Amino acid sequence: MLLYILIACAIAAIAVSHARRPAAAPRDMQEGGKAIIRAELPKLIASDFGRTKRGKLLIAEVQSLLKDDRIVFSSALKGKRGLSWSEWWRPRIVYIKILRVNREKYLHQMPSQLIEVLFHEALHSIKGGFHATSIEEECDAFAAGLCAEAASQGIEPPDILRIDGKPVAEFVMASYSGAPRKPDYQPVGESIEWLRKRTGLVEAK
Ligand SMILES: [Zn+2]
Repeated sequence: MLLYILIACAIAAIAVSHARRPAAAPRDMQEGGKAIIRAELPKLIASDFGRTKRGKLLIAEVQSLLKDDRIVFSSALKGKRGLSWSEWWRPRIVYIKILRVNREKYLHQMPSQLIEVLFHEALHSIKGGFHATSIEEECDAFAAGLCAEAASQGIEPPDILRIDGKPVAEFVMASYSGAPRKPDYQPVGESIEWLRKRTGLVEAK
């Protein structure tokens, strides 16, 4: 009896989780989005960013997301530009915003913007698991996205990375005010000192 209840609960959990997943844009837009990423990757691999340990880890994650078909383009992200979706029985899926112009027509973000969102979500994907995000992880993710975006545009990112004119940490503290601080956070492929220097993040108390 207990086994039947457990199986029923598992099926219900899968059904609920499926119901809440954002709807994917049509198949040709999925293929078009992945083609943009494949066209951008060689430029990123050859860039200064792509030659760092951090760049290599993030690019490898994007390649694995592509290979495993874990990137989905959706116009139903409720104002978000990207989302990484956790389900307990499989690795994270990364959702990227696509604009819906009308019933049939969709538009991808500009390639460098798409890359920014993708690398932000790839960082969350590397961190994986079911844990809630933290101020540190968001700073790390925005820094990853901005450095990848600069590499896509062939420009050098500024020493202090900024969003809407504000240092990343200031933007994150204002936008994710409910997120906890994580004093033992380890950035992907870099030190916490690097993350503080590049985002203006102050030490967690
Ligand atoms: Zn994030």
